[in-house]
Amino acid sequence: MQNNQKEHLYKILVIGDLGVGKTSIIKRYVHQTYSTNYRATIGVDFALKVLNWDSKTVRLQLWDIAGQERFGNMTRVYYREAMGAFIVFDVTRPATFEAVTKWKQDLDSKLTLASGQSIPTVLLANKCDQGRDIFLNNGIRMDQFCKDNGFVGWFETSAKENININEAANFLVKHVIASE
Ligand code: GDP
Ligand code: MG
Repeated sequence: MQNNQKEHLYKILVIGDLGVGKTSIIKRYVHQTYSTNYRATIGVDFALKVLNWDSKTVRLQLWDIAGQERFGNMTRVYYREAMGAFIVFDVTRPATFEAVTKWKQDLDSKLTLASGQSIPTVLLANKCDQGRDIFLNNGIRMDQFCKDNGFVGWFETSAKENININEAANFLVKHVIASE
């Protein structure tokens, strides 16, 4: 029983620049709530999401970086044993999109699967309720960006309006299970 539970517990990282909506996405996904001010406390926050997946129980342990994202990188210890990641940017702030490749490189340089491959990572273009950013006017460019930078896919999301968050999570879980 214990083994079986451990088998389906996945550490999932949620990274990206300050203010892009990481905490909001986690709160929306796990607690079905949304608020306009979450404190950027220094430290690490966890949230657990339990899913029924092909008659198995899958537990996602979502790691929120609280406050440390201002440094633009995380430690190897923080990334350790993660099985999947979301990298989030804010469609209203182009600089947060430019930071995406930096976050991806930081992650890939500090963590790989036993197979030597990078962990499945999904790109989230958050705050899509605020209109479509210039990067998103051409889906092919985003698809190409994902291909070039090793993302398994991307979603436009809104934590505020609850758009695509479950879809993005299911997509990531599918890739995590396939890469195990
Ligand atoms: P974090 O620093 O990445 O954890 O970002 P937060 O979750 O604290 O969000 C930063 C700000 O953006 C907060 O005021 C949120 O209410 C707001 N925010 C987060 N997600 C969305 C969204 O999908 N749409 C809109 N319009 N605002 C959002
Ligand atoms: Mg936060």
